Amino acid sequence: MISQLVEQLDIYSDPKSKIISAVMGRNRRLSGESAPLRVTTPIDGSEIALFNMASKSQTEQVITNAVDAFISLRAIPAPKRGEFIREVGSSFRKHKQKLAELITLECGKILQESLGEVQEVIDICDFAVGLSRQLHGLTIVSERPNHRMMEQWHPLGPVAVISAFNFPMAVWAWNAMLAIVCGDSVIWKPSEKTPLCALACQSLIEETLKQFPELPDALSQVVIGDYSVGELLTRDARIPLVSATGSVPMGRKVATTVAQRLGRSLLELGGNNGMIVSPSADIELALRAIVFSAVGTCGQRCTTLRRLIVHESIADELLSRLVKTYAGLPIGDPTNPKTLIGPLIDQQAYELMQVAIDQAREAGGTVFYGGEQITLQGKEGGFYVAPTLIEIGGTAEVVKRETFAPILYLIRYSDFAEAVKIHNSVPQGLSSAVFTNDLRESEFFLSAAGSDCGLANVNIGTSGAEIGGAFGGEKETGGGRESGSDAWKNYMRRTTNTINYGHDIPLAQGIKFD
Ligand code: NAD
Repeated sequence: MISQLVEQLDIYSDPKSKIISAVMGRNRRLSGESAPLRVTTPIDGSEIALFNMASKSQTEQVITNAVDAFISLRAIPAPKRGEFIREVGSSFRKHKQKLAELITLECGKILQESLGEVQEVIDICDFAVGLSRQLHGLTIVSERPNHRMMEQWHPLGPVAVISAFNFPMAVWAWNAMLAIVCGDSVIWKPSEKTPLCALACQSLIEETLKQFPELPDALSQVVIGDYSVGELLTRDARIPLVSATGSVPMGRKVATTVAQRLGRSLLELGGNNGMIVSPSADIELALRAIVFSAVGTCGQRCTTLRRLIVHESIADELLSRLVKTYAGLPIGDPTNPKTLIGPLIDQQAYELMQVAIDQAREAGGTVFYGGEQITLQGKEGGFYVAPTLIEIGGTAEVVKRETFAPILYLIRYSDFAEAVKIHNSVPQGLSSAVFTNDLRESEFFLSAAGSDCGLANVNIGTSGAEIGGAFGGEKETGGGRESGSDAWKNYMRRTTNTINYGHDIPLAQGIKFD
């Protein structure tokens, strides 16, 4: 299946050179000096590719290439860099279906969600093209006569993008498309679970680069490997910005290493997202939003709904309707268009889910639905599960942790202020939602005293953000913002310029130094 896919994508028409330039590993098949990486599909657990991980010297060479590329790229006008991204977007449009199939194969998302992910890449390309003509600074009045102050935004340098398995194309695109229009070269270390998606994206970049001989070849590079390759990038002072998406423990390590050398890190880490459902809510709307947010991508989105905080007067009704809906959800092969819930990424994810369910039971939780493994004929190597509904108290330790699986904890509340308190009582702060038709409740939820998350929604679910807004979260989620709004500023350095066009040299703050 994989060879068919790549052939149809036409990305390995010249297999050797493509693979060498994409991986910098010299040879995709096992043979070389560096450690092997076996890639499997979560659909049935079978092997789909073998890689050599990039070695230390190869990774260092990639960084050297990125530094050289940056020096050429920063001299190219931003609108020209935008033209390149426009063609990259066209290429993703052309190959949308095949790229989506590759995402489904490698990370197990249902095809609809994979198509949505490729669309996100296309959307961010469009956004970046517009941005390439709008990178702007302020002019600021000066306190001194005949002086002018202004801000400029300059390209920053090579940017390392370390990404998670669950958005194997979009997270790279959020970073890379903006970084490139901002004039930065990009080194991408994808998740070791999804390197083929990265190769497909890199191949389209290289194909597009052929139309732009004035742009440096190493404007975008991929290094395949595990955390150890990521560590080489985080330690290297030639990389001023490391954008890292993944779990909180990973973010802690990346942030510490980058801070040691006083570099910048942009962190997009785990979430533990909550939704409050108040008595005034439109229950039909809420139900649809809850189910998509809680079980979409088999509970493996950073924005997955994990905590449902429901008013006691409607909790029983909502719970019984959820149990009924969960019982009818089609679970299975993600390539089947009827499937809504595909597999977990691997056995470890399944085991962590079981640990969380056991801990919830020990903490007094009641499992109302699901949790068990589902064996599919011919796909015994895949980890398919029934999504789980557990009623539990909001203070249980297990509820404060992100378990990357479809477990939804239901917590009852009696008073709205208490609900917001329960909502904010976890260490993570990514996405949040309230379902209410009470203006006071929704405004309170969005106020400074309300949700403490980076994303706060009214009458829509916690997952499925648009690219136009800045995306990211607070507290242990890391504080980073990517994608829309003014997130581009992360990829540039700001200079404040003061220009004296007079015949005197007055000092600021009225200081006399004559
Ligand atoms: P992970 O933390 O296991 O790995 C993420 C990436 O970090 C991988 O490429 C991995 O090789 C790399 N890595 C791990 N340790 C490293 C180290 N010490 N130095 C450098 N790189 C290192 O995460 P995962 O299992 O792939 O993804 C799931 C997690 O990602 C969840 O916690 C999810 O919430 C989070 N996530 C967050 C966002 C967001 O935008 N906030 C988006 C997607 C996923």
